[in-house]
Amino acid sequence: MKNSSTDIIIIGAGISGLASGCYAQMNGYSTQIFEMHNLPGGLCTAWNRNGYIFDGCIHYLFGSGKGQPFYSMWEELGAVQGRRFINHDELMRVREVGGKTLIVYSNPDKLELHLKQLSSVDSQLITSFCKGIRVLKGFDLSLLQQKPKALMEVADLWNLGRKMLPFMGTLAKWGTISAEDFAKRFQDPFLRQAIPQMFAWKDIPVMVGMSLLAYMHNQNAGFPLGASLEFARGIEKRYLELGGQISYNSQVERVLVENDKAVGVRLYNNESYQSVRVISACDGRGTLFDLLRGEYLDEEMEMLYDGYFPVHSQLQVSLGVNRDLSKEPHWVTYLLNQPVVIAGEECSEISVKHYCFDPSLAPPGKSVLIVMLRTSYDYWQRIYGRKIYDAEQIQESGILIDLLAEFYPAIKADIEYVDVATPMSYERYTGNWQGSSCGWLLTKQTMGMMISGIPKTLPNLSNFYMVGQWVEPGGSLPVVAMSGRNIIQQICHKDHKMFEVNIP
Ligand SMILES: Cc1cc2nc3c(=O)[nH]c(=O)nc-3n(C[C@H](O)[C@H](O)[C@H](O)COP(=O)(O)OP(=O)(O)OC[C@H]3O[C@@H](n4cnc5c(N)ncnc54)[C@H](O)[C@@H]3O)c2cc1C
Repeated sequence: MKNSSTDIIIIGAGISGLASGCYAQMNGYSTQIFEMHNLPGGLCTAWNRNGYIFDGCIHYLFGSGKGQPFYSMWEELGAVQGRRFINHDELMRVREVGGKTLIVYSNPDKLELHLKQLSSVDSQLITSFCKGIRVLKGFDLSLLQQKPKALMEVADLWNLGRKMLPFMGTLAKWGTISAEDFAKRFQDPFLRQAIPQMFAWKDIPVMVGMSLLAYMHNQNAGFPLGASLEFARGIEKRYLELGGQISYNSQVERVLVENDKAVGVRLYNNESYQSVRVISACDGRGTLFDLLRGEYLDEEMEMLYDGYFPVHSQLQVSLGVNRDLSKEPHWVTYLLNQPVVIAGEECSEISVKHYCFDPSLAPPGKSVLIVMLRTSYDYWQRIYGRKIYDAEQIQESGILIDLLAEFYPAIKADIEYVDVATPMSYERYTGNWQGSSCGWLLTKQTMGMMISGIPKTLPNLSNFYMVGQWVEPGGSLPVVAMSGRNIIQQICHKDHKMFEVNIP
């Protein structure tokens, strides 16, 4: 066994792993991160192809606005200093091919006016919806994460309840209906079709989408210039400056356990490393069933991974286009007149986004364009490793490119590069079960889990912790970073140490 002096070994250099490492180092613990890839960031990534940078993650980062919820955490992690953010005043547009367009303005006043112009008969519903967005502009989502649940005392709960009280009505009213349910309340046929798409997925609780608009309007949900990998590299830099160590190309095969106590890890190359504690900041299923061989599961954990709760697997076709698309709206979901079959499933809408708002991502006069859609993991998994997998990627991207030509005339001739990422790509590069982009997908069914939380420790196994998107339903960068922060706070508490942070 090597490195007997490490206090904490962390598995995974995604945002939760890097954040755990930073806060541990801030509190005097020596740490080493083992990462199977050759890059930091995990899902928070981007890839460079032929002079184009294809972003694979951030559409909006909560905490990008100075002085606003989550900002101070990003400051502690060195992620926002000197970084510029792009703030959009519309989330996206939802467009009928050859018909009407819903513009999802982040400004509730503009949105209200626009929705009422589209459908005056739905006026009452629209007023109530936009009123909710205005209320949520004052809601601090980070309140729910600011202290580890395990450390909350009666006074903390009382304080939290008091701060949340003004928002409870809005949260209760909009937290239990999905965008799809909400759409059914509209009388206007176009809005009934467009509303399910307005926040990117139809089973999103409306409250989550409203919070997103509220944060966008507060300029607290921006896109970091330079894209997601650069953002992750900022936190990697902070971690290294704090004295942390990262080993890349180092896949952990086992968590080593002695007498029901985690004592280190073994890598696939057979090297073993010792530590006082181990934090898993990687895929939840892999951690429980592979790294720990299913030996420390309770019924609740087993149920979680039996396939009942939804995860989000996506297909992303990224295109390098020799055309300036900056005059086009940056994100449009097209409602198709005729559904198309993609990867074995009927698809009635496709989402298309260009990144011209960040000129560093494409050569001058050119654009990055991506097409995103939800897809079946099983479909890709069945054919993975066979010739048909490559053929299928070409075929599906071909169908999507043909469709694009309807919205961007003659675009095909300008496409210089095509890159396809299937759920298998996400799984291969980050280890996430079913290539999930956020752990458990946030729906009205999983909202409760988000509030109650998933345990970060396992019964009968000491000195072992889990952080990241599989223990924080809905995932997202601020929440998983906070997950890392909280676990170190919990460890400090156990060691009777004051939890300390500093800002570089
Ligand atoms: C397309 C897409 C869009 C998104 N959009 C947004 C957005 O707009 N805003 C937002 O806030 N969030 C967004 N997210 C969600 C967010 O990116 C994730 O929730 C978050 O990055 C998860 O971080 P994590 O640290 O929990 O896990 P991961 O990022 O999965 O990190 C886990 C790390 O562990 C490594 N690893 C796995 N197994 C092992 C092993 N055995 N040994 C060593 N290393 C291992 C992996 O390589 C990886 O680096 C998006 C995600 C995707 C995919």
